[in-house]
Amino acid sequence: MSEEKKTTRKEIKAGKVLKKIMADHFYELDEAARTGSKKIAWCTSVGPAELLRGMGFLVYYPENHGAMLGATRMATELIPYANAVGYSPDICSYLTSDVGSYLQKKTPLTRAYNIESVPRPDVLVFNTNQCRDVQDWFAWYARELNVPLIGIHTHRDIGQIREYQIQDIAKQTEDLIPALEEISGEKFDMDRFKEAVALSRRTSELWRECLEAAAAIPSPWTFFDATIHMGPAVVARGTKEAVDYYELLLAELQERIRSGIAAVDGERHRIYWEGMPIWGKLRALSEQFASLKTCVVASTYCNSWIFDQLDPEEPFESMGRAYTELFIVRDEPYKEQYIKDCYERFRFDGILFHDAKTCPNNSNNRYGMPERLSEKLGIPVLTINGDLNDLRCYSEEQAKTNIEAFIEQLDER
Ligand code: SF4
Repeated sequence: MSEEKKTTRKEIKAGKVLKKIMADHFYELDEAARTGSKKIAWCTSVGPAELLRGMGFLVYYPENHGAMLGATRMATELIPYANAVGYSPDICSYLTSDVGSYLQKKTPLTRAYNIESVPRPDVLVFNTNQCRDVQDWFAWYARELNVPLIGIHTHRDIGQIREYQIQDIAKQTEDLIPALEEISGEKFDMDRFKEAVALSRRTSELWRECLEAAAAIPSPWTFFDATIHMGPAVVARGTKEAVDYYELLLAELQERIRSGIAAVDGERHRIYWEGMPIWGKLRALSEQFASLKTCVVASTYCNSWIFDQLDPEEPFESMGRAYTELFIVRDEPYKEQYIKDCYERFRFDGILFHDAKTCPNNSNNRYGMPERLSEKLGIPVLTINGDLNDLRCYSEEQAKTNIEAFIEQLDER
């Protein structure tokens, strides 16, 4: 049997600043919602945040709230309330746990920040680049709160991206402006928009550098750390605070590399995580991998907030490009090549696919990809069944045993 010992996670010092950024994000939204001092836009996680920031909106991300519902394990109890109003247990469990949270008037923001409820939106803005669920999710709130719903419809399952597709998304983004001007009561200001795009681009470059720090052997941090530290890349991109934060985090990771500090002491194996995190089990999984001297060094999920293509000189086109070139929008050959490129960079010795029951969009194990990649790269793969938020779909004992057997298989190679 593989050796399994109790371990503790090594805290990242920048975490203190991270906590403050996340708290300030919610306090600012809460105050604006209570006083009406600023307009609030709800935005999908890879939606047109730069445009919204550039037009003076505060931006709130329901998917971030969904992840909090998962991480605090409130989701499993709340999902049935959304099922009861007709939202199937088989669709996105961010959606169902968030709607359940609204119906039950329970939010993790209360315990974390003493905030009673999520901020009421003035407008709901989606991009279907990741899935259709986000549009249906926002449509529920549009009906419930009588708030305008606008969005962008992205081409999906794309191999080679065509210029007409980029121009289409750029135009759809631009077309949001009149509705947003009416809601905000302010005229669109190109310079302010370009500034938000530039800050978002810089955030993205730094976030990439942080993630790529895990190419070092031993790795200075893990996928489980990154799922926490990606907070500002998600909720604060387009702001100076996010840029400052990733400069700080990057310096700390580089210092760890210089000093040979490993996230997992005695790192013996390196793994790629493909698919959604299992939010309610991050700690347990992190500890299991650490005890098996295995570092999860890279993931598709955390890489999804790298938007290198953003360019303030071509703000609409570059947003179209950045939000279309995403992994989740692409076809299978592209995705396989992407993971192969990650393999060259991060030198992992196995891939774990998470088949998330309620998110087919982020479960890439279903059409033979694990087998094809295993053959091409000559490394083993493991699929575990679970879910991002609905822990009823996850058997912890079974996953634990499967992971242990997988690491034994790596030991034997
Ligand atoms: S991509 Fe998956 S997890 Fe994200 S909103 Fe869509 S269905 Fe939910």
